[in-house]
Amino acid sequence: MNAGEKPRVIAIDGPAASGKSTVALSLSRRLGFRLMDSGSMYRAVALLAVEKEVQLDDENTLFELARSVRADFRLELPPGASPRVFLGDRDVTEAIRSPGVGEAVSPVSVVGGVRKEMVSLQRESVSEDGVVAEGRDIGTVVFSDAPLKVYLDAALEERIDRRYKELTDKGMNITRSSVEKETEMRDTIDSSREHSPLSIAPDAVLIDTTDMSVVEVVEEISKIWNSRQRDR
Ligand code: C5P
Repeated sequence: MNAGEKPRVIAIDGPAASGKSTVALSLSRRLGFRLMDSGSMYRAVALLAVEKEVQLDDENTLFELARSVRADFRLELPPGASPRVFLGDRDVTEAIRSPGVGEAVSPVSVVGGVRKEMVSLQRESVSEDGVVAEGRDIGTVVFSDAPLKVYLDAALEERIDRRYKELTDKGMNITRSSVEKETEMRDTIDSSREHSPLSIAPDAVLIDTTDMSVVEVVEEISKIWNSRQRDR
């Protein structure tokens, strides 16, 4: 990338289960961009913390775990299949979606040192190919100069239904009320934390996906991206 050139980044932020992952994956395939799922990076730190029984307020140890995730994290996108997440040679794709990690991830993500390492990892992953990056602070902090920022939202009940279906489709044995509790807990912590809380960037395009299909959302974002490219 030449100096002064804006990164080819589409930043997608929004609360838990607002459709970011599905939309970002589909959009990245459509545009031939790379995919950056920042939530899976924070989940990888939380996974190590749970496995090593680290206290969730032990900031120094969490920072060390974040450093190791920064060194070892890899996201692979096999053609036609879902993304897979690796720490070194270990495939952690399923492990980072477990209910235990779901509960630990927001407390882990409030730690400033963890965020610092994850933001560096995210910035290192930008290339000239273009990136669709999704998370909570992508448009506000990580790529605040992204040429397109999207904030995806959906009604809470709809988000809980989607997440419940996604997890039960994967064969997880959970109740709807536990999904509701986790979603609300994560939304509260993610929006109220001191460092990089979830918020809408002033120049973001807001899309309410409650009554939209994934195809419709992807279509809308692609249209905006293409028209901005023409106007450059
Ligand atoms: O995107 P996903 O729901 O998998 O993210 C899991 C958690 O990781 C979020 O609830 C949030 O606590 C944290 N996160 C974050 N900043 C990001 C992405 C995720 O703090 N950019």
